[in-house]
Order: sequence, then structure tokens, then C-alpha cells
Amino acid sequence: MPADDADSSAPDSLPACPGCGNPVTMTATSGPITAVVAPCGCQVAPGALESSDSE
Ligand SMILES: [Zn+2]
Repeated sequence: MPADDADSSAPDSLPACPGCGNPVTMTATSGPITAVVAPCGCQVAPGALESSDSE
């Protein structure tokens, strides 16, 4: 899944970092169960940002 940075100019639609609560603008997967979010740089679980309401 490529980073879709087409509409990343809306702070309100950005997911909140589960680590610190800051808005996440980018997620870089650094391992099978680890991802690094930007700009705060916290390490989180990759699924933590996508399991909001994907019903
Ligand atoms: Zn963070």
C-alpha cells in the first residue's frame, strides 16, 4: 500500500498517534509488528492506526 499523500493537508483527518496523541502525517513500517510514525517519531503497531473504523 503506497503512501497516499494526495489529501494529506487536512490535520483533522489525520490519525492520532497512540503513543503521544499528536496527529500522524506519515507511517513508516520498520518491522513486522513495528511502525514509526512521523513527525513525532513514536514506534507503534502498524495496525494501531488503521483499526479505527474499518468495518
Ligand atoms: Zn507519537
